[in-house]
Amino acid sequence: MKLEQTNRIIIKIGSALLFNETSGSLNKEWLNSLAEDVKYLRENDKEVIIVSSGAIAMGAKDLDLDMKNMKMDMNQAVSAVGQIHLMGSFKSAFEKNEIKISQILLTLDDTEQRRRSINARRTIDTLLKLGIVPVVNENDTIATSEIRYGDNDRLASRVAQITSADCLILLSNINGLYSADPSTDEDVKLINKVSEIDKDIEKMIGQSISDYGKGGMKTKIQAAKTAMLSGCHLAITNGSIMRPVKSLFEGRPCTWFEPTKTPLAARKQWIAGTMKPVGKIIIDDGAVDALKKGSSLLPAGVKSVEGNFERGDVIEVLSSDQNKIGIGLAGYAAEESIKIMGHKSDEIADILSYSYREEMIHKDDLVLI
Ligand code: GLU
Repeated sequence: MKLEQTNRIIIKIGSALLFNETSGSLNKEWLNSLAEDVKYLRENDKEVIIVSSGAIAMGAKDLDLDMKNMKMDMNQAVSAVGQIHLMGSFKSAFEKNEIKISQILLTLDDTEQRRRSINARRTIDTLLKLGIVPVVNENDTIATSEIRYGDNDRLASRVAQITSADCLILLSNINGLYSADPSTDEDVKLINKVSEIDKDIEKMIGQSISDYGKGGMKTKIQAAKTAMLSGCHLAITNGSIMRPVKSLFEGRPCTWFEPTKTPLAARKQWIAGTMKPVGKIIIDDGAVDALKKGSSLLPAGVKSVEGNFERGDVIEVLSSDQNKIGIGLAGYAAEESIKIMGHKSDEIADILSYSYREEMIHKDDLVLI
């Protein structure tokens, strides 16, 4: 991808790049070179958003704790200490390059609820208009195991989706996606371009998880899926060099994921990017065929319902052999869905004594996967 083709770029920085793995101290020189990269992008009229990990690692270093064996309550507390150090480091590196930064801490619900996601986008847009670089992280201080993104790869892709960014760069300590595991297989090739995540790509995903970060290749591919459906290019590239973003646009080898040819409408992008659907609907084969032909999901095709969801919540649609078919907004709450499943739509009013609509999931609220 060429620099001229993009307007709004998100740079995601993994903890492994920010810290020296042996000493655990902040890699100041590298952070300064990243700030120079951001300056370069802005001189080329690009809007830049940063997603940075490192709160927990930095807090653990400051408090002299071993971050690997910490329980959730410690993670929450330690991140509260580390986040201010993290932002302090960004502030001083970016100020040297005459760039003002801001801090945005997101909780899963800030992007999972449509109204809140629009609000987050508005704030980010305003900051960018003011010429300020937003630096985003998960709000680890109040994140719990059920309510969290868990890794900043997927957080960054969700931020890309809600802000309509057209380029997301995952700076990591790997060069990109390889045809096989580079640590065990000598005959490996770096894949330069991916335009569809098919079974072959899924097979190539190793589980290389670095010591500091939470993500591995798996979360990067999930991030790529969200980005691709949102019309956003995504690069997985090795950031452990000076000026990593400039050299990426100068053609340094990496893996670029290309967006789907026909990006979904904004509302459907948001549905498809949902990180934690709250329920499941299992449908019969006839309904699977009907959905693939573009129909809505009617109660008649539903075999079972799982989870405790409300009307309007995001739920998954599965075939009877448990394959994920799609994701969409529930037309009825779980309790109502159980009562009307297997029935014709004109029976809904008799069964419930009211009827919101004919469909269990309307086609406008449904994204096939
Ligand atoms: N939000 C976490 C932190 O700042 C990092 C998550 C990740 O490494 O992906 O420490």
